[in-house]
Amino acid sequence: MLIGVIVVAGGRGQRLGGAVPKQLLEIGGRSLLRRSVDAFDRHPDITELVVVLPQDLVDDGRMLVGDTARTCRFVAGGARRQDSVRQGLGALSPAVDVILVHDAARPFVDADLITRVIRATSDVGAAVPGVQAKDTVKRVDVGAGLIAETVPREEVWLAQTPQGFRRQVLEDAVALGATDLAATDEAMLAEKAGYPVAIVRGDDRNTKITTAEDLVRARATMSAAAPRVGTGYDLHRLVEGRVLVLAGVVIPFERGPHAHSDGDVVCHALVDAMLGAAGAGDVGRHFPNTDVRWKNAAGLDLLTRTMAIVAEAGWRCASADVTVVLERPKLAPHVDRIRQALADTLGVAVSAIGLKGKTNEGVDAVGRGDAIASHAVAVLVPEDVR
Ligand code: MG
Repeated sequence: MLIGVIVVAGGRGQRLGGAVPKQLLEIGGRSLLRRSVDAFDRHPDITELVVVLPQDLVDDGRMLVGDTARTCRFVAGGARRQDSVRQGLGALSPAVDVILVHDAARPFVDADLITRVIRATSDVGAAVPGVQAKDTVKRVDVGAGLIAETVPREEVWLAQTPQGFRRQVLEDAVALGATDLAATDEAMLAEKAGYPVAIVRGDDRNTKITTAEDLVRARATMSAAAPRVGTGYDLHRLVEGRVLVLAGVVIPFERGPHAHSDGDVVCHALVDAMLGAAGAGDVGRHFPNTDVRWKNAAGLDLLTRTMAIVAEAGWRCASADVTVVLERPKLAPHVDRIRQALADTLGVAVSAIGLKGKTNEGVDAVGRGDAIASHAVAVLVPEDVR
């Protein structure tokens, strides 16, 4: 049995109201579209994929979706959802005999749900995942603003995707959909075409991102579920005639870091930790010491710029822990101010910032007091909606 998937992302998601098409909005650093495609690309039973995009995004399809293990084609959608599915069907290999149609706005579909839909489709010919209504269901006379009746709750299921169809069933459904008949899902067309459609257990987590509130909730869920962690390290020689600065706090001392910038090892290590966690390169790539722009650059300024870089990738720093290794002077009197400066810059509580001073027990250049080093760990979580 060859199983193909049509991921429908042909709309603009105007209810979310932003300039970015809904399917390209990111949750935890990956777009809704990419999450949806990845879920099927990882499933062992899937043979090939077709992604239906708005016309102006088709050429960028591969870049938007990234590498896939299965064959993945990109086609332009039509005016209505059913037209987009027809376009998608036309792009699948003729040998595909079961087709799953999935809405890209459901980025949390998991392998078990996909498997349930495939099984029921191969048994019945068409299958839809659904969750049973939890609230009491009323049919309403909309014009009168009055309840017409109470519908038995066990008879009401809320349809999700992926919806599965044997090829002939979807072809007949799509043919019916080519008429004026407006459908909100493919199963409705299969029902109208006279086919039985099985209902299988859906998943409450397989939620559809429709409103800004949905997006906020999904990002919050992800932030609890999937933080990113990065580490950073920095070292500078200590020389006379330089000012010792840690997170913008001036530490009275007779020597300071030899550096193109201000040599703030706390900020530099933290910048690398954040960039590392976001998979966004390192301090040398973004702020090279060959560039005059960064001559004497303040560490806190680089940290602020780094926040913007990771925010662009959908992340913010939720907490950080830094160890400074130096022989002299004692760091203890400055720890609270350094933590406060980092907390203020990162926009987090002081309790989210760790800062420890260590000596190197007289060992090597740091131990001799000829250098200062710093280690940092940063935890990134998906950025909230701006
Ligand atoms: Mg440095």
